Amino acid sequence: MHNIQDYFFKVMTPEQVREKLTETAHHLPSEMIEIRDSLGCVIAEDINSPVDLPGFERSTMDGFAVRAKDTFGASPGAPAYLKLIGEVKMGESASMKISQGDTIRVSTGSMMPEGADAVVMVEYTEFLDDETIEVTRSVAPGDNTVRKDEDLRTGEVMLRKGHVIRPQDIGALAGAGIMAINAIRRPRVAIISSGDEIISPEQTPEIGQIRDINSYSLSALTHQAGGIPIKIGIVKDNYDLLRAEMIKALENADIAIISGGSSVGARDVTIDVIRSLDDAEILVHGVSVKPGKPTILARVGDKHVFGLPGNPVSVMVTFELFVSFLIRLLLGMELPLWEPRYIKAKLSKNVASAPGREDYVCVRLLKSEYGFLAEPVLGKSATISMMVKADGLVKIPLEAEGLETGTCVDVIIFGDM
Ligand code: AMP
Ligand code: MG
Repeated sequence: MHNIQDYFFKVMTPEQVREKLTETAHHLPSEMIEIRDSLGCVIAEDINSPVDLPGFERSTMDGFAVRAKDTFGASPGAPAYLKLIGEVKMGESASMKISQGDTIRVSTGSMMPEGADAVVMVEYTEFLDDETIEVTRSVAPGDNTVRKDEDLRTGEVMLRKGHVIRPQDIGALAGAGIMAINAIRRPRVAIISSGDEIISPEQTPEIGQIRDINSYSLSALTHQAGGIPIKIGIVKDNYDLLRAEMIKALENADIAIISGGSSVGARDVTIDVIRSLDDAEILVHGVSVKPGKPTILARVGDKHVFGLPGNPVSVMVTFELFVSFLIRLLLGMELPLWEPRYIKAKLSKNVASAPGREDYVCVRLLKSEYGFLAEPVLGKSATISMMVKADGLVKIPLEAEGLETGTCVDVIIFGDM
């Protein structure tokens, strides 16, 4: 059996936990993913453009294709006169060719006719008669056109390995005719809620029972972090049952999370279950963070197992601090991208903390004439409604004994940690 002193005198800092993760995580293999499903995926190898885009020289304005030289010096007082010889229709190849003094009508996106090197916008032209156009502004070669390879050049690196696909990237891939890409497989995260008092949210609790919050919040967090949640369900605080579920979960998952029972109480069997698995190594038990001290991290073969505290706030904070971080490592995302996005704000109240512990406080953001105020969300113990009311978290650093009213803080916005 475990001994309380063994563990809690060996708590690690959050930074040390992340070092353990970095040492033990390797990115997952890649697979082909259709671009329509690729939002948020991480590119496994550089993608080169197979084509020139747009592929032909194109007008970027409605107007008249010209030889720029024929417009030199043109002004409202001294217009140039050009002979209209036709029109290039959208989606059609320009068959006509222009010679000195000619012009051809073009639209935004239509092909430039041979011989033309610029477009005069329709706003600077006037029809004198059916075939004579007056031009009141000069254009330089290249004005209001794009070259055939100006958007993308054949062979050019469009997107680099490790890049996270955004909507504009999907658009560019479609533009180049690339319908599927090689992306890192999304980590599969098995989620187990443990506790004798936990019941399914569809059921009506009897006195002493509570509905399972964590399977749901953890699934959503997993999804948001780029993983695929596999909801295993609720398991009693029973060594054999939990062990059997863990073994099954790890067959299909890259990461397994058990929420609840991660501390060292009599009903807390998580640590013993994890230790009993084949090729298991406990990397962490106890982290100097509040909420979230009884966090367990283990390596089981090439997979990772977390035992996270069951408190619904603790489980979310520790997920964001450690599981999200691991998902990013498994996806091979560039590490600087993990850095959370912060909003600067001034604390509206003093917040207390013990030195030697990293504290996370739920805050609401309020707008003031001096910028944002971060107002701590009051609540007796960490409850899910505190998270619901909050816009983000403020970190009180390890060495600080709290922060005073007016201190400028970085608020970590949920979802961007
Ligand atoms: P534990 O980590 O098992 O000591 O649980 C800490 C607290 O979180 C207890 O009050 C539990 O009832 C509660 N809790 C544990 N798991 C869940 C869950 N899945 N949903 C809601 N509350 C939970
Ligand atoms: Mg419990």
